[in-house]
Amino acid sequence: MARVLYLGGLGRSGTTLVERLLGELPSVCALGEIVHLWQRDIRDDERCGCGARFSACTFWKRVGERAFSGWETVDVDRVRTLRDLVERTRHIPRLAAAQLPAALRENVREYAGLYARVYAAAAEVSGAEVVVDSSKHSALAHVLRWADGVDLRVVHVVRDARGVAYSWTKTVARPETDGSDEMTRYSPGRSALLWNAHNAAFGLLARRGVAVRRIRYEQFLTDPRAALRDLADYAGIPAGDADLAFLGDGYADLRVGHSAAGNPMRFTVGRLPLRRDDAWVRALPRGQRRLVGAVCAPMLRAYGYPLDPAAATQEA
Ligand SMILES: [Zn+2]
Repeated sequence: MARVLYLGGLGRSGTTLVERLLGELPSVCALGEIVHLWQRDIRDDERCGCGARFSACTFWKRVGERAFSGWETVDVDRVRTLRDLVERTRHIPRLAAAQLPAALRENVREYAGLYARVYAAAAEVSGAEVVVDSSKHSALAHVLRWADGVDLRVVHVVRDARGVAYSWTKTVARPETDGSDEMTRYSPGRSALLWNAHNAAFGLLARRGVAVRRIRYEQFLTDPRAALRDLADYAGIPAGDADLAFLGDGYADLRVGHSAAGNPMRFTVGRLPLRRDDAWVRALPRGQRRLVGAVCAPMLRAYGYPLDPAAATQEA
């Protein structure tokens, strides 16, 4: 049975950073956003976190051989069809039922089974006790709840909705496509609604009995060492002083990883500064700040975020 830490939350909440730091722990293998593996890697042959094309990365080559006798045997169109049938936000109410509705059952099993095979193979090839999937999507976490052979432990990463909204307005290139493509952007109103929906979906998952540990991105960065120890404990793996030696005062020293897909930070090797990005407090226009604050107020409060942005930078 593969033990999987699934990093969930709305995009731009800091999941890639959390994944990179977790990936430095000796018993952990960080895989990136497996939800995108099928299209971006198997089909489009984008770059692995190690810099090589997916097809040229020896780690993923071995994982593919072990999981599927080679990636070429995976029917990516079928994966896409399955994803539409089961892994969409609109399916969450049915996925969250006490029993899986008969109409969904076979497709959910088949789809979740593909992930379970990747996790198990990656654990074997890497020798790690825990693999990390930072796919983020709440619907996928609800699907994985039904996977056989997966010891699923969700880390729900929450970041102040206004910081998330500001980040979604910025243009970020996707280096894996050699600059020809940019990451998606959302308006602040849209990202506020998504923030509510995705975070609520992880709350629902916890109420269904799945292990869900919620962390606040801002708090994580306040004391990464303590936060990582907590997460290691949650994952059931050791994190002694020597294991955390890659963390310095305000930085982390990162080695090469094999993240299959995700935020450009997955390519970072060497020193990564660890500091809170509170640029939104000054840079997000007041009207947008108020809008996002109002739309997200109940859950911001529930997570302990002050609604007054001046206080938001002091606290957390
Ligand atoms: Zn690689």
